Amino acid sequence: MSEREQKNTVTPLRAVIPCPECGKPSTREHYPFCSRRCRALDLNRWLSGSYVLPGRKLSDEQDDQIFFDDKNPFSE
Ligand SMILES: [Zn+2]
Repeated sequence: MSEREQKNTVTPLRAVIPCPECGKPSTREHYPFCSRRCRALDLNRWLSGSYVLPGRKLSDEQDDQIFFDDKNPFSE
């Protein structure tokens, strides 16, 4: 198992990968991004992507009504 020992000493930390946003080497602090700015950019993209779903909220309310009907027999 000398191969494994060597790996432990050579890569004690996660390997540096290119920042997904700008391609610069990532830093340990903001992994896998290079900076807080790039991490925020990626986060914003995720948030806006999940919020831009027109009509989604309406169907969620309908689901709530169905759940409410299911609970009615329980209160009798
Ligand atoms: Zn970056």
